[in-house]
Amino acid sequence: MAYDYIVVGGGVYGAGTAWELASRGEDVLLLEAEEIASGASGGLGKRGVRANGRDLRELPLMNLAYDLWPTLSDRIGAETGYERTGHLRLFERETGGLQGGFASAQARANVQNEFGVETEVLTGDAVRELEPELSDDVVGALYCPNDGVADQTATTRGLAAAAAELGATIREHTPVRGVERDGDRVTALVTDEERFEVEKAVLLLSNAHVPKLVESELGITLPVWETFPQVSATEPMDEAPVNHLIGHDHRRLALKVLSDNRVMISGGWRGEWDDDTNQAITIDERVQGNAAEARAVFPVLEDVQLETADASRRETATVDHIPIIDTLPGATNMIIGTGWTGHGFAISLAVNQLLATWAIEGERPRRLAPFSTDRFSKTGLPGL
Ligand SMILES: Cc1cc2nc3c(=O)[nH]c(=O)nc-3n(C[C@H](O)[C@H](O)[C@H](O)COP(=O)(O)OP(=O)(O)OC[C@H]3O[C@@H](n4cnc5c(N)ncnc54)[C@H](O)[C@@H]3O)c2cc1C
Repeated sequence: MAYDYIVVGGGVYGAGTAWELASRGEDVLLLEAEEIASGASGGLGKRGVRANGRDLRELPLMNLAYDLWPTLSDRIGAETGYERTGHLRLFERETGGLQGGFASAQARANVQNEFGVETEVLTGDAVRELEPELSDDVVGALYCPNDGVADQTATTRGLAAAAAELGATIREHTPVRGVERDGDRVTALVTDEERFEVEKAVLLLSNAHVPKLVESELGITLPVWETFPQVSATEPMDEAPVNHLIGHDHRRLALKVLSDNRVMISGGWRGEWDDDTNQAITIDERVQGNAAEARAVFPVLEDVQLETADASRRETATVDHIPIIDTLPGATNMIIGTGWTGHGFAISLAVNQLLATWAIEGERPRRLAPFSTDRFSKTGLPGL
């Protein structure tokens, strides 16, 4: 069987790029090892759709994503759970720490506004008007009113269903095992029982699988590693104690409100792979550590119990915390995307649109230039 485009991976990147290609009338096959949204694009809770505090190189993508998120539900005919809650990045210190404290807030706001990310510096009292349950220790915040949240599972499944509706072929339970090449082009993808020829381009968007395939097939080691981000959720409450998407300047903390006024707690804590059960598990000390950060900032959470915690979703991280989006020597018609470093969901709609354009037109869109592997050495990847 032959297709013009083959997308590998049924997360928000694979499903979204397949939908973008199908929307433009292209012939596309998506191969997913397990089920749609079974990786980082699924699981407990919601995902933040946030520009506030993001690496500056990702802000042009976030700016485009701001335009795409509000209309996605209508365009794919499915719920996405997208909601503009606004994001507050809280400060408890005037100076110091890796991020610079509240003293850095105005400079950061100026740059974000320059990139079209509406940002305001709020005093402690002004933040407490928006978040009355907030601790008195908070001295201020960076506020982005256009940031929000979305349901990652619903969005990803909706994108895949919309792609199928437009004629894309979606194959679940079909892991890609290898590639066939002719010179520096990929000509076919190989699965356990089949072989799929590709006429134009492959989009390798299978997250943690990308570095493995690149290493085994191209002999290139990408500077990425696997992580298992930890999330937990409180029991339901009568009233939500938090109104916005919350981040923090120096604490490893992110908060979101879920259904039934449960609060989702995350922000950079990790689970660990467990060889005995062959899955990633949460570590109780870390779950409690994350909850303690939440309670320090929202004391009202002190008497609220955690209902569940999870670290089963595998993500990839890069040494400079921004993704790798590129083609590699030996496979010039295969665009890879990996290393989203725990914040890939928000920008995905923008990246997917640009990936489809790149695949069709054969030229890297300018907004994707910062994510090239060139950045890891002056002459390209180490060892090349
Ligand atoms: C707990 C958690 C919280 C997060 N919070 C946020 C947030 O608040 N905001 C934000 O912007 N981002 C967040 N992220 C990051 C974001 O969710 C991810 O960056 C994004 O979902 C990655 O999408 P993906 O499509 O690349 O990967 P995935 O969703 O992992 O999809 C990859 C797919 O490839 C499939 N696959 C694997 N091997 C093969 C193979 N051999 N053949 C075919 N298919 C294969 C997998 O089964 C999987 O379905 C979070 C991530 C996690 C885990």
